[in-house]
Amino acid sequence: VLEVRHIEKHFGATRVLEDISFSLEEGQALAIIGSSGSGKTTLLRCLNFLERPDRGSLAVRGETLFDAADPATQREAEVRRKRLHFGMVFQSFHLFPQYTALENVTLAGRLLAKERADYKRDQKRILRQIEEQGKALLEQMGLSDRAGHYPHQLSGGQQQRVAIARALALSPDILCFDEPTSALDPELTGEVLKVIRSLAEQNTTMIIVTHEMAFARDVADQVIFMDGGVIVEQGTPEQVIVHPQQERTRQFLTRFS
Ligand code: ATP
Repeated sequence: VLEVRHIEKHFGATRVLEDISFSLEEGQALAIIGSSGSGKTTLLRCLNFLERPDRGSLAVRGETLFDAADPATQREAEVRRKRLHFGMVFQSFHLFPQYTALENVTLAGRLLAKERADYKRDQKRILRQIEEQGKALLEQMGLSDRAGHYPHQLSGGQQQRVAIARALALSPDILCFDEPTSALDPELTGEVLKVIRSLAEQNTTMIIVTHEMAFARDVADQVIFMDGGVIVEQGTPEQVIVHPQQERTRQFLTRFS
């Protein structure tokens, strides 16, 4: 479903990503691990057009969304549509504080619906559908009884689960998590990992940047270890986390054992 080819990214003279290539199959979970500053967040930002790679290309379901060598793939006007392929869940939730949990989940859907040709005619039915779907997603996240709560009335773990429901609401091809539990207390981390684990069991296509090694080992189909902006090692969790071949990977992993 996703093909990333030879992505390179500089900030000024600093090369932050170098020749990053990987592919992701439908229904697979990819875990990206690596120390702070290794380029993991920048890579996710490149996928979602928050950063523009200096080289390389990116395709989803066979459509080239970005190719550094082809200006026709870089039109600003199409960025919003292309972003819809990816759902993003960030470290620090980024919920809208003035909206309830349900409103946070349904907001983007309601805005997009206004552009539908049948919106004027069918507004009531469309909005009801969006609301039903939002409630179903909150239920899936174990938050049925929190739909009317505002972010400040929710725990960090609950806020993050609302953020996951919100990312799922637009049915992205690929759900991306950037260290989804690192802003959470240990006792709240488990509830968020449980939700992500159940999404993996339902074969949701996901990219998860994480420092939770045991979780990555259990949930991922594929693991990438990054260091200094390059992919050092890539393979199954068994290959990368249990039996790493590279010294750099081994050194990184000793910090977690
Ligand atoms: P962390 O685990 O701390 O989030 P990371 O692996 O996600 O780290 P990145 O955030 O992608 O790493 O950063 C990679 C490198 O790029 C770092 O050296 C960082 O300082 C640098 N960097 C990131 N964003 C910018 C920016 N906008 N301008 C300049 N340098 C940046």
